[in-house]
Amino acid sequence: MSDLRSLSKEELIVLYSKLEKDFQRIKDKNLSLDMSRGKPSPEQLDLSLDLLTISSDSLHVLEEIDVRNYGSLDGLLETKQLFAEILQVNTSEVIIGGNSSLNMMYDTVSRALLHGVIDSNIPWAKEEKVKFLCPSPGYDRHFAICELLNIEMITIEMLDDGPDMDKIEELVKEDKYIKGIWCIPKYSNPDGTTYSDEVVDRLAKMKTKAPDFKVFWDDAYTVHHLTDKPSQLKNMLQACKDAGNPNRVFIFASTSKITFPGSGVSAMASSEENIHFIKKQLVIQTIGPDKINQLRHVHFLKDLENIEQHMKKQAEIIKPKFDMVTTILESQLSHLNIASWSNPKGGYFISLNTLDDCAKETVKLAAEAGVTLTNAGATFPYGKDPRDRNIRIAPTFPSLTELKTAIEVLCVCIKMASIKKLLKN
Ligand code: PMP
Repeated sequence: MSDLRSLSKEELIVLYSKLEKDFQRIKDKNLSLDMSRGKPSPEQLDLSLDLLTISSDSLHVLEEIDVRNYGSLDGLLETKQLFAEILQVNTSEVIIGGNSSLNMMYDTVSRALLHGVIDSNIPWAKEEKVKFLCPSPGYDRHFAICELLNIEMITIEMLDDGPDMDKIEELVKEDKYIKGIWCIPKYSNPDGTTYSDEVVDRLAKMKTKAPDFKVFWDDAYTVHHLTDKPSQLKNMLQACKDAGNPNRVFIFASTSKITFPGSGVSAMASSEENIHFIKKQLVIQTIGPDKINQLRHVHFLKDLENIEQHMKKQAEIIKPKFDMVTTILESQLSHLNIASWSNPKGGYFISLNTLDDCAKETVKLAAEAGVTLTNAGATFPYGKDPRDRNIRIAPTFPSLTELKTAIEVLCVCIKMASIKKLLKN
């Protein structure tokens, strides 16, 4: 088979009927494979089992805080030190949260709407409207926060080294209602892109019409390398300080995909001024996050060097899965010229682009064949991919055997959707 676009209508029809037979054979197998969310596999979770058996004798802390009791609104000093090392910031620039960084992001946006941020004249919700820039493809749950909180989303194209900065600079310079931007700066979800130094600097420096513009820097995959040559991300908080905008960024991270998602520890980092401002509101919101879990994590993860070792073990488990996906895509699709995909050096996803107008159909066919993928469009604001071409592949959870089947099915579905589209033209 060669480039599908060079085939005649008749040849395409012949090919389609052959694929239909393959598709029926797949359906007859009654598969049930779920590749919709980026979850660690049971083998990855097993790597952190020691977290659950830390002896109660070791549950003592610096500053003689009894972790079994109330206290420590912004987290234990040791947890702050750990995240400060991960995020390359000062301990005084960290707040520890509960079990989910997404929750911290939601709360941060909500507080801004209700009370404004440090440099706001009025709460964001009192403005005529509020807009966020959304580099896309991106993380559906960021977009869901905006949708729920009535924040208008503006799609920004993701380029090879981060979001389209020319477009961003042009927009924020003119529009006072643009209050924020969502960024996944390292091994982005789903493209696997790491922002270049230039992009980091431009985000830190750019002139914004809104005096209270904030960058939501979701560094969820900062230690999630898949190769021996980790991508380097420039320090955004430092870049903001250097640019004279020290309060511009809120950084988020968690141990979700380091230890146990849903039972990990989250953190945010920002300038001391921002941290102080936030803590004054946080003290009303909560008595404080789970210190016992923080301490368990501190004992288990120890320091950045130890985390890097732990993440190497994770990579040993998941790298073969990423390789399996790209090898099958390569052998099944590359000569047909109907799709392209990322080859990430870290993170949790492979981002695949079909021909325009084929993603929805592909995902629908895959579902019919028993393979659940992330909804087409989910990686764009309002669930609407303007070119209907992006599909997020989450290879970590299924076993290698399941994954092989799922990707082979996906390839059949992409071919069918592409032929349908070509026959329409
Ligand atoms: N940010 C990104 C970019 C993610 O991909 C995820 C997990 N899918 C999260 C945040 C969620 O993190 P947490 O479990 O800390 O809420």
